[in-house]
Amino acid sequence: MTIIQQPTALLEFIYKQKAKDLSVGFVPTMGALHKGHLELIKYCASHCDITICSIFINPTQFNDQADYHKYPNRIEEDIRMLAGSSVNVLFLPPVNAVYPDGMDNLEQYNLGSIENILEGQYRPGHFQGVCQVITRLLKAVEPDFLFMGQKDYQQCMVVNKLLSLIGSKTQLITCPTVREADGLAMSSRNLRLSAVQRKLAPEIHKTLLFIKHSISSKLPVTLYQIKSDAFKRLEKTGFSVDYVQISDSITLKPIKSLSSSPSLVILIAAFIGEIRLIDNLIVNV
Ligand code: AMP
Repeated sequence: MTIIQQPTALLEFIYKQKAKDLSVGFVPTMGALHKGHLELIKYCASHCDITICSIFINPTQFNDQADYHKYPNRIEEDIRMLAGSSVNVLFLPPVNAVYPDGMDNLEQYNLGSIENILEGQYRPGHFQGVCQVITRLLKAVEPDFLFMGQKDYQQCMVVNKLLSLIGSKTQLITCPTVREADGLAMSSRNLRLSAVQRKLAPEIHKTLLFIKHSISSKLPVTLYQIKSDAFKRLEKTGFSVDYVQISDSITLKPIKSLSSSPSLVILIAAFIGEIRLIDNLIVNV
């Protein structure tokens, strides 16, 4: 595995591969790597000749500066993990290589209604930051395929929209969420959980399954009751809930009744202590 820090050096490497007609796949991350990231890398390596992984904690996507400063940074362990994977190049740019003109007055994207719901409502500006960094990383990598996790469901939808807005030829491939044995979705933020919080954290996945069961069993229960029971379960466990939403899986618009869409996605965001966790589950009715 080669480590490259500067976008121009990376592009030089990429053009050499493309001249040999090799396909390039890209897995962007913010590091503190876990098995979820490694699965994306495996998908990428099985689809593409060359696998590029980036580690870059993007300042512009954090609406909360404290969250940015507390984001886990474990670069040495990450490099060790990647050295044992099928990654060909680790792109590890410094902030000033990604944002050479600084981070003020950055471009804004017209993402439509998806920008301000769910994560967008609770993390204003977050998706503009995601688009700003993905645009820059795509310019440096020019990948044929981009691999991202369903764990960040709304982010995948935003990035798909971005790819069409900027007329990119890159194709997004969304990979399934990787979970711990007790159902907790793997996340770099899980590193910050205390032992007690770690024991409580799987309640998010259990609540997703509870909602899925309530929908699938077609019991005479209303959407309002299901969401209200889910909220109560989470709050009783000690979570402070940002949202429990049941949406159409294509538009992400909240459904108005249980029969209004054949493919749903249940999305939850909740804090346990200071740590904000998100997860989702697709349900085909
Ligand atoms: P992050 O480092 O958290 O920005 O995540 C980098 C990529 O890994 C994103 O595309 C995430 O959706 C994906 N990812 C994070 N956690 C998981 C997981 N548990 N399963 C699958 N993909 C994940």
